[in-house]
Amino acid sequence: MPDFRTAVVTGSTSGIGLAVARALAEAGHAVMINGLGDPAEIEAERALIETETGAPVGFHGADMSDPAQIAALVAATETQFGQIDIVVNNAGIQTVAPIEDFPVDRYTLIMAVNMSAAWHLCRATFGGMKARGWGRVINVASTHGLVASPFKSAYVMAKHAVVGLTKTLALEGAEHGVTANAICPGYVMTPLVERQIPETAAARGMTEEAVIRDVLLAAQPTRAFVQAGQIGALAAFLCTSAASQITGAALPVDGGWTAR
Ligand code: NAD
Repeated sequence: MPDFRTAVVTGSTSGIGLAVARALAEAGHAVMINGLGDPAEIEAERALIETETGAPVGFHGADMSDPAQIAALVAATETQFGQIDIVVNNAGIQTVAPIEDFPVDRYTLIMAVNMSAAWHLCRATFGGMKARGWGRVINVASTHGLVASPFKSAYVMAKHAVVGLTKTLALEGAEHGVTANAICPGYVMTPLVERQIPETAAARGMTEEAVIRDVLLAAQPTRAFVQAGQIGALAAFLCTSAASQITGAALPVDGGWTAR
């Protein structure tokens, strides 16, 4: 079998997803990137990854909260690259608020993007992976797929569900060369985290500086943010044959957070 596969990485116009897309392209895989944002900036990033890595890189702007657009993403990727071997469910959003004040529209959107999108994309691609005898599902969950923090009820609920999906797909793919794993990052300084600092400050009655020191980095014994490229490197490793017996795992990359 060829070493080079075709990957779809959702939410890869920014942050962790962008780093995963870049790492997979550096490993030689064709990559379909996806996400929201300024079309010109996305095209510049897509072209840069393609030029720097030599791997074919496409873009599809499916809104992952919409199952019809997820189906269109799958169809476009299969048209451009022939098949889908690697699915990285990474698109995610966050809202920080006490449950009694949590906006219902944000709950609904978080569940759609962070949880249901992964199920829909796997439903559409898993059969092909099984039939070809090789596949990788990588779900970018979170430390919050393993433990909770207050004021993140929807996010923690969705991420725990994604870990459950991961285990189920590991069992369904086990005899077909298809692995499924969750990567559970601690805090990575991306736009998603930058945006939640003022929300967390408001929810906890703290300054933003105190949130970084006493909430975010206090959770991680290393007292350092995880780097997005470190998540990309792990995702690329999970796509190698060396990782073929790693399946059904929820792998923390959290500076020791969940060791406590
Ligand atoms: P980010 O905000 O930098 O990137 C999120 C990406 O998702 C962007 O490309 C955005 O366009 C895309 N996206 C958002 N809504 C979308 C939608 N409806 N349809 C398609 N794409 C959409 O965030 P990030 O920190 O890189 O987060 C990526 C993933 O990593 C998320 O699932 C997040 O929960 C998870 N995560 C992040 C951290 C962290 O500390 N940053 C920690 C643990 C887990």
